[in-house]
Amino acid sequence: MGEVRTGIGWDSHRLVEGRPLIIGGVQIPHDRGLAGHSDADVLTHAIIDALLGAAGLDDIGAHFPDSDPTYKDADSLDLLMTVLERVRAAGWEVGNVDATVVMERPKLAPHRDEIRRSLAEALEIDRDAVNIKASTGEGMGFVGRGEGVAALAVATLRRAA
Ligand code: MG
Repeated sequence: MGEVRTGIGWDSHRLVEGRPLIIGGVQIPHDRGLAGHSDADVLTHAIIDALLGAAGLDDIGAHFPDSDPTYKDADSLDLLMTVLERVRAAGWEVGNVDATVVMERPKLAPHRDEIRRSLAEALEIDRDAVNIKASTGEGMGFVGRGEGVAALAVATLRRAA
């Protein structure tokens, strides 16, 4: 087996009225959505940081500064695909991604398959190489109070042949 690397990513965004709730590129029906410069797709941002971390390529803010109007309301799946290109250019291929979304409401489970499909397509890997888990804050902290959503991700890269 060739060289393998692992990276970790974490993100959180505030839940506000008047924004769509987009998780892993999938719009989820809810009375509030995530605030941010881009579409605020918290899960995709965590995965981007995991990939960049594994490749030794800094973090999402270094690649897509939120001071840059180019990324205003950006589709985070487009950012993910750009990151995939940069990871590949650095000589890596994606092994797998595993992530946890921490959100009190709404339930993520009914949307899990669509989210996995969406991310697997963007990453050009099999659906079983993209796992998404759902957790809650059990009423505690900013997640538990419904103030925001957090996501944690790990990614594994293999040295490309
Ligand atoms: Mg973010």
